[in-house]
Amino acid sequence: MISLTFKRASFISSCAGAALFLALHGAAAQDKDTLTPQQPPPLANAEDPATPAKELFGRKTVPALLASRTIGGYSKGCLAGAKALPINGKTWQVMRLSRNRNWGHPNLVQFLERLANQSPKTGWRGLLVGDMSQPRGGPMRTGHASHQVGLDADIWLTPMPERQLTRAEREELSATMVVAPDRLDVDPNIWTPAHLNVIKAAAQDTQVSRIFVNAAIKKALCRDAAQDRTWLSKVRPWWGHDYHFHVRLNCPADSPDCTPQAPPEHNDGCGGDLDHWFSDEVLHPKPSPIPPKVKPPMRMAELPAACRQVLVAP
Ligand SMILES: [Zn+2]
Repeated sequence: MISLTFKRASFISSCAGAALFLALHGAAAQDKDTLTPQQPPPLANAEDPATPAKELFGRKTVPALLASRTIGGYSKGCLAGAKALPINGKTWQVMRLSRNRNWGHPNLVQFLERLANQSPKTGWRGLLVGDMSQPRGGPMRTGHASHQVGLDADIWLTPMPERQLTRAEREELSATMVVAPDRLDVDPNIWTPAHLNVIKAAAQDTQVSRIFVNAAIKKALCRDAAQDRTWLSKVRPWWGHDYHFHVRLNCPADSPDCTPQAPPEHNDGCGGDLDHWFSDEVLHPKPSPIPPKVKPPMRMAELPAACRQVLVAP
């Protein structure tokens, strides 16, 4: 199914930092891309310290030829020696190839292959993989505040079709919205036990630190989970994430300069913990009379110093 009903020049993913975006634009749709994306023009002032880091990292098309390691934090860092997730596997396909974001720390690539191989046993045919990181990580020119260190991946809430998708389909195909129009629960016509199974399988992987899903999805997981509920603590509600779920891995052993995420709380995060997400102020935010402050883009000086080497490495 290819839907051409909406198209945007740039896409904004609703990962961390989505509140501002949602306040400005409403819920992020499943943004499309094109087979012939416009390449950014060469930078005239790459050495200027005022140049946003996203303009530098966003122009790197190949990984840094260095040992693989993650440097800095999920939303303020970069990635040396990235590996690509192959665009086709028996049980996965990479989407939006024009973005060149199927890069990650080897742990992320291995995790995705592991989860994909396991998927059919859970009733989910295979994974459609969205954004991972840029070839050298770092901030992106469009979308995502996080996904900077090769440890984050978006997985569509649409199972892989039986056939191999064409390049054009991978740009144009829409993922499936699983949240009901009233945002209070999942859409019962779309949500299946396999949705829970694939998210649970990801959460049970020992390398996974967090999974972000829409609050309505978390509510459904809380309701449908059987006795074993320990995995639920890793699955956290966040804005957006109604077409995909976002998996975040722990810092790899080979990366002493990786800033870890705080460990998840021990509770399952169900019940009253979710009430706030379904309050009127969250579901129907009032437009603010003062325009929200837009943070200036990150400069190289704000990233770990080692990211400079990642940027200039061959
Ligand atoms: Zn994400």
